[in-house]
Amino acid sequence: MDKKDPKVYIKDTSTPVKFIKGVGEARARQLAKIGITTVMDLFEYFPRSYIHRKIEPAIFELKPGDNIAITTMICWVNEKSTRNGKLMLNVGVSDKHSTLICTWFNYPKNLIQMFKPGNMVWVAGTLSEYNGQLQIMHPEIEFVDDEEESDFWKKRSYLPVYSLTGNLTQKFFRNAIYNAFEVYANTIEENLPEFILHKYDFLPRKKALQKMHFSLHPEELDEIRKRFVYEEFFYSQLLWARHKHFHKEEVKGICFENKRQLTAQLYHKLPFKLTNAQIRVINEIFADMTSDKQMSRLLQGDVGSGKTIVTLFAMLLAVENDYQAALMAPTEILADQHYNNITKLLEGLPVKVALLKGGTYKGKEQTKTDIQQGNADIIIGTHALFQKEIVFDKLGFVAIDEQHRFGVQQRASLAKKHKHPDLLYLSATPIPRSLALTVYGDLEVSIIDELPPNRKPVTTLIRSSKKIDLVYKEVAKELEKGRQVYIVCPLIEESDKIDLLDAQRMQHHISTKIYPQYSCVLIHGKMASKEKEDIMRRFKSGEIKILVSTTVIEVGLDIPNASVMVVEHAERFGLAQLHQLRGRVGRGGQQAYCYLIEHMPATNIARERLATLASTTDGFIIAEKDLELRGPGEVFGTEQSGMPHFKFANLVSDQPILKLARQDAFEIITQDPELTNPDHKLLKNIYFRQFAEKEKLILY
Ligand code: ADP
Ligand code: MG
Repeated sequence: MDKKDPKVYIKDTSTPVKFIKGVGEARARQLAKIGITTVMDLFEYFPRSYIHRKIEPAIFELKPGDNIAITTMICWVNEKSTRNGKLMLNVGVSDKHSTLICTWFNYPKNLIQMFKPGNMVWVAGTLSEYNGQLQIMHPEIEFVDDEEESDFWKKRSYLPVYSLTGNLTQKFFRNAIYNAFEVYANTIEENLPEFILHKYDFLPRKKALQKMHFSLHPEELDEIRKRFVYEEFFYSQLLWARHKHFHKEEVKGICFENKRQLTAQLYHKLPFKLTNAQIRVINEIFADMTSDKQMSRLLQGDVGSGKTIVTLFAMLLAVENDYQAALMAPTEILADQHYNNITKLLEGLPVKVALLKGGTYKGKEQTKTDIQQGNADIIIGTHALFQKEIVFDKLGFVAIDEQHRFGVQQRASLAKKHKHPDLLYLSATPIPRSLALTVYGDLEVSIIDELPPNRKPVTTLIRSSKKIDLVYKEVAKELEKGRQVYIVCPLIEESDKIDLLDAQRMQHHISTKIYPQYSCVLIHGKMASKEKEDIMRRFKSGEIKILVSTTVIEVGLDIPNASVMVVEHAERFGLAQLHQLRGRVGRGGQQAYCYLIEHMPATNIARERLATLASTTDGFIIAEKDLELRGPGEVFGTEQSGMPHFKFANLVSDQPILKLARQDAFEIITQDPELTNPDHKLLKNIYFRQFAEKEKLILY
């Protein structure tokens, strides 16, 4: 990591992109923002679509509702004001026989200058009809400008279209990729052994990469893409295969005894009845904990399904066996919340609960001593729990809340604090069972698939931003009842680039114009954590009525009196994120509402996301749909969703390839666990280069 930047680079695909002809330092910085730092990253940056230069089909053959992508000529450009004072841009494009109108509202100012009558433009989108005239609202466009193209691209009938970033253009991507192939193509390494290439008839890697960018037959690319999906799955499955192999004799853990002391006391004083799902899951966890194998279990349950109480039973089982139990939360706000809830639930029970946070504060040294001397039974904390200076007396159980927020390394380091504490990972991301294997390897999974009975499903409404006044009227009724409201915006600060409502302006607008009588406060990710916590506390106590925020409120918060969630620019959020946001309300037994405010332009996929959310509250259905709608390589929202990020693979549609890759990987490891067979030499090199570090964490 702290290796010096070598001055001389070997010319291979790990060369930084800045050395590619036409790239340079400044553009390399822009590329880095989308994860492209090396030549290989650029090779693996596949086009999102392809332009066919020919004009086909003819416009007169098209009808409203068709999804089209055609190359046409720009005929005329017209900008005018609509009745409500908004600017509207109309561009007539033609195939020499018929015309089609492309229409934009809310477009960047410079868009209009880009349309030069006589030039060619590729337009894609869904056709509609207006006064008998074919129209596309907010189409995707690409200018097909022959003069700008290099000689190579001029001669091609298909042009790749890349997702852009910063001020980089299509022309830049096409030329940079072309130049990179000129110099580095011969250094592209094969990463799949011959017998696999042969078995599936895969193209060699170099050839496949070239085809992805320079194909003359884009219809062949679906097939070619499969090898990239396969390789991605294959190597990750090798890791799980080795994990399984080396864990054959199961790791010996603590054998707790179900004494029914503390657990029974808690059971009898609970203010509510456990759901059947909670009882089943507690039994699954207890079965693991009372066996002599180390528990490594994932507890999945939708937002609000009551994972905390289940975890508390497991912790008490450890405590009644004279062990300590730790619960780790991703933020201080959540650690506080757990501490307060758990202390309350355990009132009157002989259990000592401690809270450990980061930084230095009064009383921390005492807490550390208590943990070390066994004067704390249940320890709740943030990642401060894994610092070296924290020594446990006798740690027997560790629960990790919102587990995807922690890195593998952090998880492993807490687990190592004691020989083999039983481990419970909590996750609110409902991962379809079929996928759990890919995501978590051989972790056992428990699912709470039932919400407590006092919950009413959140009423979810999709509203256009034009009707926001009506939404505010509805929301006012809830405020009058004394309920609280969340308003979420996608950006923190005004950005001149995209006209999004930002949280700051929103908070100002709400507190001066809409609800001046209620206290409305802004919270966002860039605030100091002290400040954030203070605001959260005031919201929790009911002092603050309206919380305007970016997505910092997403995870785990439990504020039963909040009954309205308004998501501005809902079309910009991922499904899993929206589901999490909605899960913040409807926790108090009263009817709750989630308003998804849609601003123009929403793409078809965005519409489908919102419709899915409005039609169901079942996290599993939402997760499946999320994966399906999310194209491979789409990173937006993955951190929050807890899904692993694959560059090429789509976890839902590529399941058949996953099965093959898994089978192959397990077969290979069964026969040759150390990959010493000469046939596996390539495999071994590539595997260890990618996974040596990760393996250390998983196979400890
Ligand atoms: P999550 O699974 O999202 O972490 P929590 O554990 O925070 O959910 O529980 C959400 C709320 O539901 C808490 O206020 C908790 O007290 C309550 N709760 C949990 N189990 C039940 C139940 N069986 N009946 C009623 N309320 C419950
Ligand atoms: Mg929780």
